[in-house]
Amino acid sequence: MDIKSVKPKVTLLRYTPEPEKTVALAAKLCYSDLDIDKLKGDTEAKDTSKFINLLIKMGHLSPIEHASFTFSLEGVSRALLAQITRHRIASFSVKSQRYVGTDKTFNYIIPPSIEALGQKAIDEYHSQMKQIHNWYIGWQRKLGEGEAGNEDARFVLPNATETKLIMTMNARELMHFFALRCCNRAQWEIREVAWRMLEEVLKVAPNLFKTCGPSCVSGACKEGKMSCGKAKEVRLRQQALIIPKE
Ligand SMILES: Cc1cc2nc3c(=O)[nH]c(=O)nc-3n(C[C@H](O)[C@H](O)[C@H](O)COP(=O)(O)OP(=O)(O)OC[C@H]3O[C@@H](n4cnc5c(N)ncnc54)[C@H](O)[C@@H]3O)c2cc1C
Repeated sequence: MDIKSVKPKVTLLRYTPEPEKTVALAAKLCYSDLDIDKLKGDTEAKDTSKFINLLIKMGHLSPIEHASFTFSLEGVSRALLAQITRHRIASFSVKSQRYVGTDKTFNYIIPPSIEALGQKAIDEYHSQMKQIHNWYIGWQRKLGEGEAGNEDARFVLPNATETKLIMTMNARELMHFFALRCCNRAQWEIREVAWRMLEEVLKVAPNLFKTCGPSCVSGACKEGKMSCGKAKEVRLRQQALIIPKE
């Protein structure tokens, strides 16, 4: 039996080839009388960064939907799953708790706030996870092998249980996602995942994503009285992802 705590892993698996050229082609078509083949040739030959910047500044965002990005997330909790799947303009495939039992491998997430309390708190948390896993195995034995047992034994599993998922968002949805979830008001786990996703897409489409992040990155904080008051810190974090490293 393998029972352990795990850390998040965010990978950009696939994305639309030449995402910025794809967006530029779609947008230019709106304003051009040229055949698409000719326009495609023109777009491929030219630097499209200024055009992309202008598009974003103007808020002409529908062409941005033509670029999609597929991520894998591992080492994340079912608590994160409940939040990320609220984003409806995204596609998800999630490891099933019915088809895949938690009897042989039970991975879970330990919140940094509990880790920060020290070894005694960490040991207490681990032993609670072991206890929960024992309850799970007990119910599986009573309810039967495989899918039948897994289906209801999982009801005793905690929010901390690890899940794995593959998720695809288009660039427009990603912009919206980064605005909400890179914000300090978002819960810590989804916030960390959002920042790692932003870091990944900035490597492959810097012009599309360089103004992304919470509202305070490019203007005033929209959180009003709930503002964290750390706009400067947040801006620096976002800038550190953009400025090319030597
Ligand atoms: C800090 C924070 C705290 C939160 N707290 C809670 C909470 O306590 N309880 C809770 O239930 N949720 C909570 N949420 C989740 C939140 O309410 C949203 O469900 C989630 O952030 C997804 O946002 P969205 O609907 O804008 O995005 P998406 O579903 O990704 O949609 C993107 C955009 O598409 C448009 N859109 C999508 N679907 C429709 C539709 N059916 N009709 C019209 N327009 C549509 C909207 O413009 C929307 O903003 C919280 C989120 C954050 C960031």
